[in-house]
Amino acid sequence: MKVAELTKSLVYGAAPEAAKPALDWIAEHNGRFQLFINNEWKNPSGKEWFDSTNPATGRKLGSIAQATSTDVNAAVKAARKAYPSWSATPGHIRARYLYAIARQIQKHARLFAVLETIDNGKPIRETRDIDIPLVARHFYYHAGWAQLMDKELPDHQAIGVVAQIIPWNFPLLMLSWKIAPAIAMGNTVVLKPAEFTSLTALLFAEICASVGLPPGVVNIITGDGRTGGAMVDHPDVDKIAFTGSTDVGRIIRKATAGTHKKLSLELGGKSPFMVFDDADLDSAVEGVVDAIWFNQGQVCCAGSRLLVQEGVADKMVKKLRARMEKLRVGDPLDKAVDIGAIVAPVQLKQIQALVKLGADEGATMWQPSWAAECAKREGCFYPPTLFTNVAPASTIAQVEIFGPVLAAMTFRTPEEAVKLANNSRYGLAASIWSEDINLALDLATQVKAGTVWINSTNQFDAASGFGGYRESGFGREGGREGLFEYIKRKPAKEVKAPVSKGVSSQKAATSRASAGVSLSMAPAIDRTAKMFIGGKQARPDGGLSINVYGPAVGKSRNLIGEVGAGNRKDIRNAVEAARAAAAGWAKATAHNRAQVIYFLAENLAARTDEFARRITQQTGFSANAAHAEVDAAIEQLFTAAAWADKYDGRIHGVPQRNVTLAVPEPMGTVAILMPDDYPLLALAALAAPAFAMGNALVIVPSPAHPLSATDLYQVLETSDVPHGTINIVTGNRDELAKTLSEHDDIDSIWYAGPTPGQAAVQKASAANMKRTFVMDASGALPNLDDVLREATQVKNIWVPYGA
Ligand code: ADP
Repeated sequence: MKVAELTKSLVYGAAPEAAKPALDWIAEHNGRFQLFINNEWKNPSGKEWFDSTNPATGRKLGSIAQATSTDVNAAVKAARKAYPSWSATPGHIRARYLYAIARQIQKHARLFAVLETIDNGKPIRETRDIDIPLVARHFYYHAGWAQLMDKELPDHQAIGVVAQIIPWNFPLLMLSWKIAPAIAMGNTVVLKPAEFTSLTALLFAEICASVGLPPGVVNIITGDGRTGGAMVDHPDVDKIAFTGSTDVGRIIRKATAGTHKKLSLELGGKSPFMVFDDADLDSAVEGVVDAIWFNQGQVCCAGSRLLVQEGVADKMVKKLRARMEKLRVGDPLDKAVDIGAIVAPVQLKQIQALVKLGADEGATMWQPSWAAECAKREGCFYPPTLFTNVAPASTIAQVEIFGPVLAAMTFRTPEEAVKLANNSRYGLAASIWSEDINLALDLATQVKAGTVWINSTNQFDAASGFGGYRESGFGREGGREGLFEYIKRKPAKEVKAPVSKGVSSQKAATSRASAGVSLSMAPAIDRTAKMFIGGKQARPDGGLSINVYGPAVGKSRNLIGEVGAGNRKDIRNAVEAARAAAAGWAKATAHNRAQVIYFLAENLAARTDEFARRITQQTGFSANAAHAEVDAAIEQLFTAAAWADKYDGRIHGVPQRNVTLAVPEPMGTVAILMPDDYPLLALAALAAPAFAMGNALVIVPSPAHPLSATDLYQVLETSDVPHGTINIVTGNRDELAKTLSEHDDIDSIWYAGPTPGQAAVQKASAANMKRTFVMDASGALPNLDDVLREATQVKNIWVPYGA
């Protein structure tokens, strides 16, 4: 027999990693795991325990405590008690703790890897080479941010007590994504792992105690959704960070609506894997293996939709099938296994049901010849599965399967590829395969996803932010951008840096406002202002008007004008106009956007007196104060124009051979319901930066003082503002807010108004997971940095290099 023939006939022997260290660790605890609160181990107050099982064998590993709301209380209390001193601990000392944790994880890497594999079912190759090294990396990286916080983020501080809820697919990695930035920035934490996979979090708790982390800084409590619900509802929690399903994310969005709790959600995905006809197909096939068969496809950013250009589709599918034939499913502890066990029977059933549905809906299902062996194994196993002839609207092309199942579709042109890629309610990640870097980068900017990998896939690093667009959630984890999820602006008096120009001129306007009501300059009631939609003045659909009053004169109300009462139809029209204009405006060069805003400022300046009179008429400000407000608004327009071409991205220093471009992109269509104070300045301070960043706007002026906005129509008409990019609908704030927050074509809604209105907006926004930015109807306007951040979302584009 020749050697070549011999290599073909060789079979794999077993290459198991020893489970003993992990089993010994479990035995040391007598298979019973309590709650880690205030650096002490406590029994659950409800005396309820549940099993953690090895999904590869179906055998029980240990009993886990089910934390009740009493236990959640105790954990939050411990975190609250620890907060003042932890947040005041110098950054360097916090950095030392994070560093110590990273070192301990490395020192116990093998124990962590084996424990993770037997608890979750993922192959040891992955826990050993990916999960655990990345966990250590997250703590090292954020040790650096703890060290730099004072210098780099001088006007920010920790938020307080953070409740963190994580899923089972990357148990320890998700823990590190959550805990490392939180404690680096000075927050204290209550974290709950998913009920299927609690063990590595508990081993991590021991490490926290062993490095002497002060009691209460990190508390780990276990339990199911009931425990998670109690954490979300706890009144003394300042922030919720959640990773999991979009359904639970929606529940949490609603539950926290109108509370002071800051929220970040990392949810589901249906990420496209796009292969062009000039791609290196063999590399792309390996990419698919990593995209959808990594971690059994139980990855929120899994490349679960394969989009292939028609000319190479048959070839690609052939190569893929050949590769699938060689994949090995089996004992996750075996070092030569590619695909391990599905986390639990319930998940396996869901995969089976969706695959059946896919076949029933008419797609062609293919599995390797050995697929039937999976069902014969004890434990939960499922073979790699490929669907071809998939209709883009079918269930398997739209719904997250969270299993090793790939749905393949074809496209003809790059435009069609982008349309298919974006034909999803999700927007977590995308992978683009082409040897043409011009094409790849062009498409990277067009795909709606928080992370885009070029000629690569499933690359992660602590230095690069990760998070979604659309219903994949909001907030970023990792990178500088991720820090903002765990910090808030210090109260103004503590800010050492000079206050921004806009805010100071706004203050000047207030201080110059005289108490006396000056109405002498007010024009007579003249006309009813219309709406401004699609670049044209439009009559309100309902044919109704609302009276606008100035400050009362003596006892009588002082009618100064009328505006249209906008309704659902007006909002629909405005949103439609904004949606149609958004893509073009986002693509306009930054220079061009700046020019339009400078032109607006120029035209506003030419009408200073008229606008100042209007301010006086509406608010009773003195002529001086009103002029100061117009000047401040013009200055704000200049500031927004200045930022249009200076709000740069970054290049993250990830360890891979990559440039990772962190690019701020516009949100898309932004609805802004204006505050009441400073009717003109507020427009310039909120709408202008949003516009400068490339968003198309639907603006609802303050119902109290709408006339400064309606007077702007003529300024907008003469300033080269592209039709549809700025739309203005007057009317009842909360009625219009309801329509806007329920509208699927609004990507972000900013609402200034009373607390119940804020809550309603946040709740209604859960439907398509739009971003919300809420503030009071009167009082200081938000800081410009925050406005710019709300107006954008960071996309990380990974571009590999190397010959
Ligand atoms: P997956 O589909 O990935 O299991 P889930 O969203 O069901 O995602 O679970 C993710 C995490 O959310 C788990 O820790 C789970 O216990 C927790 N969880 C489930 N239901 C709720 C809830 N209603 N409130 C808070 N947390 C919950």
